[in-house]
This record gives sequence, structure tokens and C-alpha cells, in this order.
Amino acid sequence: MPQIITQISDRLHTSWQKELANVITDPKTLLELLKITPEEYQQHFSARKLFPVRVPRPLLSRMKKGDINDPILKQVMPLDSEFTITDGYSQDPLEEHDTVAPGLLHKYKHRVLMMVKTGCAINCRYCFRRHFPYADNSPNKVRWQQALSYIQNHSEINEVIFSGGDPLMANDEHLLWLINEIEQIPHVKRLRIHTRLPIVIPQRITPALVSALAKTRLKSTVVFHINHANEINEDVIQAIEPLIAARIPLFNQSVLLKGINDDANTLAELSEQLFDSGIQPYYLHLFDKVQGVAHFDIDEQTAKKIILQLMAILPGYLMPKLVREIAGEANKTPINLA
Ligand code: SF4
Repeated sequence: MPQIITQISDRLHTSWQKELANVITDPKTLLELLKITPEEYQQHFSARKLFPVRVPRPLLSRMKKGDINDPILKQVMPLDSEFTITDGYSQDPLEEHDTVAPGLLHKYKHRVLMMVKTGCAINCRYCFRRHFPYADNSPNKVRWQQALSYIQNHSEINEVIFSGGDPLMANDEHLLWLINEIEQIPHVKRLRIHTRLPIVIPQRITPALVSALAKTRLKSTVVFHINHANEINEDVIQAIEPLIAARIPLFNQSVLLKGINDDANTLAELSEQLFDSGIQPYYLHLFDKVQGVAHFDIDEQTAKKIILQLMAILPGYLMPKLVREIAGEANKTPINLA
């Protein structure tokens, strides 16, 4: 493994924090950099007040210049339709307001979701946590201690899921401290990290992080969030190589999004690209009905048709499971394709 880590190119050693500090927050700048005339789209810019724009620069090279319909751009571009209030959509579609300790959700009996860090490198417009009261759950070591005490006192918990925001927004020093603390809790066997950060800023996979995941007694997995094959480029492939070399299982979950990945060929290409890169397709989520972004939603019947078409293209082991999260349910609900 150390040899492989040292093979990471100098380009990937650019500090991920520098990229974080340099994210694009102005939609006008974003469009200018993509050679799209901002004046034609400025009626959409005020939607940034509803949810700020955040686009890491490493993603720009994966967007097609001059194309307002680029599938990555559409995930981050604010739209004036975000002001539309739609019946049946809510600010908290998964009812995640019930934390059992600061930043700790205990929805599933044996697993807890720990909001290690609020905020993300990228703000995906469709995010189901776009209205989440992060300020009330802003983590720090004192709050982490309270979450750790809860986990210590609940012997039924065997897996801790680092979530957020994006948990890899925490620096390595803090992550290593947390992993070390969780290791001391005997009934916890597994650690899972849900992240999109290494996809949008590949430099985030640091040697220290890989080493910590490889060495911990906890069985570690990383679940990425990738919606379109164009999100995976050489930098991403190179960045995750050390995780693969350390035999850390890598999975992916996607969200089915109108106008971005809502056809079988696009999803097939994504699964193929994931597998070629060492990542196992895992879940395809039906859209969570979050208020303001109903324009991304796809009805269940259409989703089923797409999945049936996808089954005719892909081998079974590349098929993501179509699921929906239902508030209050103890697990994700698989969609019956019959
Ligand atoms: S990375 Fe995930 S949590 Fe962060 S904005 Fe995107 S969808 Fe939401």
C-alpha cells in the first residue's frame, strides 16, 4: 500500500483545504468560466438565497463548456423554480429533526448516523438536507463526546455511519480522534463513511485518512455519492486507488434525477464506469420530496420503467437497488418492480 500511496501524482497533493477555500459561490462566475453568457440566466441567480451556491473548481473540467444542460452543471445551478411551493413536498422529508444526542440520528436499530461535520464542499440543489437546521447541530468535540456517550450506552449499535453535511469536511486530525474513540467502544464493529467530497475534490483522499481506515479494528467502508459517469475522471480514479489497495470496500449511491440521469443508457454508463473504477453500484434512490426542488422528481412508474430497461442492459451485479427512504421506516424501502 505505501508504494501505491506514493504514486499519487503531485497534482493530487494540492491541499484539499485550498480547493475548499476556493469554491465558486457566485453563479455568474460559474457560467462565465463555462463560457455561458450569464445575462441569459440571471433570473435564476436569486435562488442562491434559498441555498448557497458551492461548486469546487476541480469539477469544472468535467462540465462541458457552453452547455447549460450539462448533467453536472444542472446539479449545482440555482433555478428560480426553487421558489415554487409544491404540495406534498416538505422541508424535512425524512423527518430527521429527532436527534438523540447532538448531531446523532438513531433511525435504524443497529446503526447510528453521526453528523460529523455540517456543510459540504458542493451544494447539490436537490439535497434533502438543504433545509436542515445545521446551526443547531453544529459539531465540536464536546458534542461529539455526547454522541459517543450515547453510542457507548446503547449496546445494540454495531455500526457508526459518518455523515453530514459531508463528514470528510472534518480534518484528518479530528477524524482520527473520532475513529480512535469509536474503536474503544467494544460493541461497535463497523464504520461507514458517506461522502461526496473525494468525487468533487479528489485531493481529499489523503495518506493519513487511508492509513487510519486501513489500520482501525473497525471494518470500514466508504459509500460515495455519484449521479453521472461524467463525475468520474482520472483524478477521481487515481485518488481512490489507495483505498482499493487497502481493501476498503467502496460503494456508490445515486439519486434518480430528472434531466440528469433519468434514462437507462445514462445509468448503465454510470454503473460500468463505477465498476471499472473499483466502486460497486449500491443504491439508486428515488428523489426525497424536498420542498423547492420538485423539478428533479420522477414518478415511481417512470422510475420502474427505467429500471426494467436497465436490467436488460446490465448484468445483475451492476444493478443498483431502486429504493425510497420513507420517514419513520426502519430501513430503506425497496421498490417492487412488478
Ligand atoms: S454532498 Fe450530499 S449532503 Fe452535501 S449537498 Fe450534496 S447531496 Fe447534500
